[in-house]
Amino acid sequence: MFSIHEDKALLDLLASIGEKPYRLKQIHQEFYKNLVLDFSEMTSLPAKLRESLASSVQTTDLTIDVTHRSEDGQTTKILLKTHDDRRIEAVIMRHLSGRTTLCISCQAGCPMACSFCATGTLGLERNLSVGEILDQITIAKTLLAKEQRELRNIVFMGMGEPLTNYDNVCEAIRILSDQKKWDFSSRRITVSTCGIAPKIVAFGREFPQVSLAISLHAPNDTARSDVMPVNKTYPLEVLMAALDEYVAITNKRVFYEYIMIAGVTDRLPYADELATLLAGRMAHVNFIPYNAWEGGAMRNYRPSSRVIIERFQKKLEEKGVPSTIRHTMGDDIAAACGQLARKHGTEDTKKDS
Ligand code: SAH
Repeated sequence: MFSIHEDKALLDLLASIGEKPYRLKQIHQEFYKNLVLDFSEMTSLPAKLRESLASSVQTTDLTIDVTHRSEDGQTTKILLKTHDDRRIEAVIMRHLSGRTTLCISCQAGCPMACSFCATGTLGLERNLSVGEILDQITIAKTLLAKEQRELRNIVFMGMGEPLTNYDNVCEAIRILSDQKKWDFSSRRITVSTCGIAPKIVAFGREFPQVSLAISLHAPNDTARSDVMPVNKTYPLEVLMAALDEYVAITNKRVFYEYIMIAGVTDRLPYADELATLLAGRMAHVNFIPYNAWEGGAMRNYRPSSRVIIERFQKKLEEKGVPSTIRHTMGDDIAAACGQLARKHGTEDTKKDS
């Protein structure tokens, strides 16, 4: 079996059964535009072709294990199962403005081991394939179609580090934005990275319109290395040089994520250091109050108070650096940033009704 996203394999299959290459266009139309996942329902194709496709091609490799919807109805966490029995998660966020965002995973587990992140405790289980990355979109689109909702934004902010699964993430973005396929605007895609410096520049060259978010989380090497081991490989000087190059290539503002952990990342001198680091750079800072999970309790991690976050904001404002405070969604179903960690057999407490 191969994935429906593999055009070359589809064309080979068509040739092998004596079908014309234009059938590929019809398959694309049925799958990407009409969102038909079952080949037997692709009525624009001849019956025999539908049978051949059904026996060789998969429209999704992932299966839904369980979905959870938050009390307020805004967030749905989709727990997905891979063919080799791994669990990954995707999160739908229905914003009050009417926009809908999907947060997707690119790896089962994550190799980066950031101290505040639940996924980091799993280590890397494996990279997701191109098909598995795209399946999350197929599945979310199908759920949303039932609510007459369309996806507006896709963010690679689920499980995993996108720039350590570089080729598959790039190929997934190419397919996602292909005009003949989903034709999803690359301006509405955001890739978030902990700072794999050499790949940032390559990524900017390849996708100058895709938005880039950097998990910065601390303004100096000592503080950053304390919470993010990756900083030892790519310290701030190296990271910022890569980002300056990225901005020169793309002319795009970079989004900096800054996690606010009381007494750890929110010390007052850090506000000045952060403002100095980003002053004069094309930057927008998102403050994310730390989302609590079991592992953080051992380290005594707690979210910063609103007053402290606002003090940071003020310092940035004085130096002309714009910022927002990220509103947390879905924390009652453990779907908030950094809470995604599902090992096989983990019991969930609430089921979607
Ligand atoms: N590997 C990518 C994607 C990670 S998840 C990256 O590092 O950017 C998306 C965001 O959630 C990152 O900014 C991450 O640092 C943040 N995050 C992780 N754990 C968190 C937690 N417990 N509370 C708040 N944000 C968290």
